[in-house]
Amino acid sequence: MEVKTKNFKNVLLHWYKDNKREYSWRNNSDPWSIYLLEVISQQTQLDRADKYFKEFIKEFPTPNDMATTSFKKVLKMWSGLGYNSRAKRMFESSKIIAKKSFDDLYPDFQQLPGVGPYTENAILSFAYNEQVITEDINVKRIISRYFGIENPKKYIDRFSSLLLKNTNSRNLNQAFMDFGSSICKPRSPLCSDCPLENTCEKYFNYETKPIEKFSGSNRELRGNLIKLLLKKGNLKVKTIQQELDTDQDRLNEILKKMQKDGLVKLNTNNLVEINLG
Ligand code: SF4
Repeated sequence: MEVKTKNFKNVLLHWYKDNKREYSWRNNSDPWSIYLLEVISQQTQLDRADKYFKEFIKEFPTPNDMATTSFKKVLKMWSGLGYNSRAKRMFESSKIIAKKSFDDLYPDFQQLPGVGPYTENAILSFAYNEQVITEDINVKRIISRYFGIENPKKYIDRFSSLLLKNTNSRNLNQAFMDFGSSICKPRSPLCSDCPLENTCEKYFNYETKPIEKFSGSNRELRGNLIKLLLKKGNLKVKTIQQELDTDQDRLNEILKKMQKDGLVKLNTNNLVEINLG
């Protein structure tokens, strides 16, 4: 396994050298930029995330710039990305970082709302040059397929130091990112174009979560609801139901979830409003 791991890493890094995608944040080591990019790029293709990232970093070059703006403004800029609860957590995090700074939080970035092991490792690798692997779905899928294993986590725990030996973690993690989105893709991997094909186990039993179809989904409805409130201000549930042409039970469920996520609240006049707190 050691020999195979070394070969895997060398081929992957070599491929990356020739096929690296250029993004504005690629050589950036500012933790706020890395954090923003990671939040924006979750569930979003990198090309699209890059466009949003450029707008966000221009408007909010520091955590304090976001912390002192209104949540309404953040939500407006977020429009189109979906999963508005992420915007909420990002806004809340900006307030914490504005007070404490990344260096004060280091290395425990999971103190920030919505930050899990993956984002924490991304900040540690890209901003602090720590020798860690960003274990996202791409990394796990590639390893699982290539080595023919069901438990890529176990493999990473055992071989991460070998993978990272004499290697800049930033390069390795970004190589996984690009390779996973252009060659070893979730569906229909391009095995015939893959430099690892000759030694790959091509183990395809790895289960990926089915992606929720956007059109007609609850995610689409939540996004439309936020857009409606941003445009028209506070509204009664009945009016929202009519405007969005949806049924009462579904809307109630969605409102319940959005209240739980802190995105909307019912005010004293029984109107639904965006929770700007
Ligand atoms: S040969 Fe196919 S499955 Fe194996 S690493 Fe390459 S793209 Fe992925």
